[in-house]
Amino acid sequence: MNTNSTTQSLDIAVLPGDGIGPEVMRVTLELLKAVHSVCGGPTLHCTTYDAGAQFFARSGVALPEATLEACDRSHAMLFGAMGWPDIRNVDGTEIIPQLELRMAFSLYAGVRPIRCFPGLPAVLADERARGIDFVLIREQTEGLFYARGRGRVETDIAGIETEVYDTMQITRAGTARVSEFSFRLAERRKARRSAAGLPSLVTCVDKANVFTSMAFFRKVFDEVAARHPGIESNNSYVDAMALTMVKKPWDLDVMVMENMFGDILSDLGAGLIGGLGMAPSGDIGDKHGLFQPVHGTAPDIAGQGKANPCAMFLSAAMMLDWLADRHNEPRLEIGARVIEKAIEIALTSGSVVPMDYGGSSGTAALTSAVMGVLPEALRRVE
Ligand code: NAD
Repeated sequence: MNTNSTTQSLDIAVLPGDGIGPEVMRVTLELLKAVHSVCGGPTLHCTTYDAGAQFFARSGVALPEATLEACDRSHAMLFGAMGWPDIRNVDGTEIIPQLELRMAFSLYAGVRPIRCFPGLPAVLADERARGIDFVLIREQTEGLFYARGRGRVETDIAGIETEVYDTMQITRAGTARVSEFSFRLAERRKARRSAAGLPSLVTCVDKANVFTSMAFFRKVFDEVAARHPGIESNNSYVDAMALTMVKKPWDLDVMVMENMFGDILSDLGAGLIGGLGMAPSGDIGDKHGLFQPVHGTAPDIAGQGKANPCAMFLSAAMMLDWLADRHNEPRLEIGARVIEKAIEIALTSGSVVPMDYGGSSGTAALTSAVMGVLPEALRRVE
């Protein structure tokens, strides 16, 4: 990963992928160009590379070496969505190159911000749900996903499958680094939280009452928490957290959990704010960052112009924030705020309502509504 820059331009490896991935990516690249023209800052050189299930069906390779190398050289990766239910490995699992990317670049922290956007129909009736603003951190290099490709199948004497085992891996190093990441993120959110009269809190989500691996996850988390006395911490069993997320999600700040729990709860988080169309994410390692919407390839709406591109727009904003920080480029951070503000203005204007929120605005209408208010968004941000 290229980190030195003065910074005139930054290389972005673009992996649109399958289904609605290329649809939301195309308009996001247009948006990034437009944001650059109103905000300035370094130029983003965006180059598209092959990868994905449909590419696999054509070529027999899901993630070509050349794509991996280009990702490694880039300053950041922008990812659409990959996978197609009909295209599968012989063991029945799907082609999921994003998991390879996470392992190849040690993208251990899956950062999933869940924020209620003004202007969209509410999911929870309670007025306080308007204030939902928390971040779910999913450990992404171990946990139950360690079992992928390692499942052990036992057969009886006649060769009939009788038992299957998948193993959960929790390491001290893996848990400590993702816990550290979570406390650092809580530090960065602290000013905004305290301005709203809210405490800074990191919650460890586990199942320490049942599994040795989860008790260990909690133990290592608690050790890290002790090194951050300025941030409150607590623990929650994953089942209790599922309830808390529905009953009082406005109390949450940052939470950290193993891979599989994070996979499930991040979709629940997206559900709290109306759906996957507004849920962005970043897969962050110490050297690399990949930014992608939480949603998948949506085969049911692919090719119909119905996809809500806001999750991809917000993922691009997360990328700008991350690049701003790494390269000390405040204009990129302004670009990130402008994207968020433009989405907010477009949605509160009432002129567009995404289809996944019961409206009739597709990808093109949402894109032009957001692009149309960029100068106003910049005025409001600066
Ligand atoms: P999905 O996220 O693709 O779709 C779930 C539902 O949400 C669908 O009804 C879909 O229409 C809707 N939806 C998703 N994104 C939307 C958007 N931007 N605008 C409007 N509606 C949207 O999940 P799935 O159906 O379980 O999976 C489909 C494929 O995507 C599978 O092959 C799966 O493996 C893959 N997948 C990939 C990723 C990824 O690339 N990170 C994540 C999840 C699923």
